[in-house]
Amino acid sequence: MATHKDALDERLERLTPEDFRRGLRAFSAKIREAESSWLQTCVRCGLCADSCHYFRADGELESIPAYKLELAASVFRRNFTAAGRLAPALVGARSLDKEMARRWIEAIFGRCSLCGRCSLNCTTGVHIAGVLRAARGALAEMGLVPDDLQATVDLSLSTGNNMGITRQDWLDTVEWIGEELRTETGDPAAGIPVDKTGAKVLFTVNPREPKFYPLSLQASAAVFHAAGEDWTVASEGWDLTNYGLFTGNVEQGRAISENLVRSMERLGCRTLVIGECGHGFAAARWEAPEWRQEGYRFEVRSFLEVMEDYLLEGRIRVDRSRHPGKVTLHDPCNLVRSGGVSEPQRTVLRRTVTRLVEMSPCGRENFCCGGGGGQLSMARFRAKRLQAGSVKAEQIRKTGAATVVAPCHNCIDQLMELNREYKLGVAIKTVAEMVADALIRPACAGMRGEA
Ligand code: SF4
Ligand code: SF4
Repeated sequence: MATHKDALDERLERLTPEDFRRGLRAFSAKIREAESSWLQTCVRCGLCADSCHYFRADGELESIPAYKLELAASVFRRNFTAAGRLAPALVGARSLDKEMARRWIEAIFGRCSLCGRCSLNCTTGVHIAGVLRAARGALAEMGLVPDDLQATVDLSLSTGNNMGITRQDWLDTVEWIGEELRTETGDPAAGIPVDKTGAKVLFTVNPREPKFYPLSLQASAAVFHAAGEDWTVASEGWDLTNYGLFTGNVEQGRAISENLVRSMERLGCRTLVIGECGHGFAAARWEAPEWRQEGYRFEVRSFLEVMEDYLLEGRIRVDRSRHPGKVTLHDPCNLVRSGGVSEPQRTVLRRTVTRLVEMSPCGRENFCCGGGGGQLSMARFRAKRLQAGSVKAEQIRKTGAATVVAPCHNCIDQLMELNREYKLGVAIKTVAEMVADALIRPACAGMRGEA
């Protein structure tokens, strides 16, 4: 399935017996008690097949969630169960060798976005994505993470953000956006505060925003300004992404998550607000406290929850007539299914746009766009990623919407590719961009109907 060879294939060829032992040790350590029972409870009913966007798109056996699960389970049986050790053929137990490692890479990195949808329909409640993430962790231990995915982790560890944006470039971008905001609002005090000690809110962003989508950051800043929030960004430790979640390397994931903790402690802020990003929210809100084995001394919120509060409390006002066309909403898996944030974006959009049409299915049952699980960073699986994304493309087309709102910059990148690939002809926006475009500024409040 891989479209090109890279250093990963060479590393695969050079694996030593010690590498396999290390991988197995990591796999066993990462499979927690509950997960080891999941490895033995699949009854092969096949109900998970249609849950997976990969299988729906290609119809291939290798894309069925239970097939991917079995690849991991057969290795577990061979190495960690008595029956597997004594009579491997009888119980379908298989060794972790070069061929199996190659199959793991193709299935677990190449045909899974860790979206978690299959678990919703599993007869026995197997958390398939959890098992596959543990298998990714074993591959990481063996040095078998695709190079481009690992590079994002390495850049986060070495520079503090996954795109290697320099401190000066970040500060220049923030300053420039602040100037734009002053022009836009006519308020000389508007801007993006940097390193404001004791600010209530520390706002964090995906590096794609300063790098490729500054208007997105400008929109968030406009919302904070309109709400009169006491907020700041950090000069360092501002990147909310954490690709350790996708490589399965918990130690590296934990180290990356500490960047945000250090910023919060250095600035003494009360609330860490995660900008629009699915996996970034899941990593900071749910995974990192587990990785560090202690909670935070501050609260973590999604910017969607914050915007919902602003609207409900009347701190910002919007004019929904500015968005007269049909708008649909994409549900990022890590934000909605894993992260539990489903309603705030709906509350916000119902007040901000005239015609919100839901995809079918939506919310917790949504289909992954195909860009999750680090897929966007793995060039070798691009063709498969775009094929798997056809399910989302079809969902979008069926809504007839002219605008797709996606509260996640990773999803946005995938949706933009799907837009081109499947000729959807839609505009793609963040929630903050929709809100910012509909804001009733204090100077003109009362002149337009409030939603
Ligand atoms: S987690 Fe998502 S992509 Fe992976 S097997 Fe399950 S449904 Fe498919
Ligand atoms: S739905 Fe669950 S039990 Fe049935 S085949 Fe899939 S993983 Fe196995």
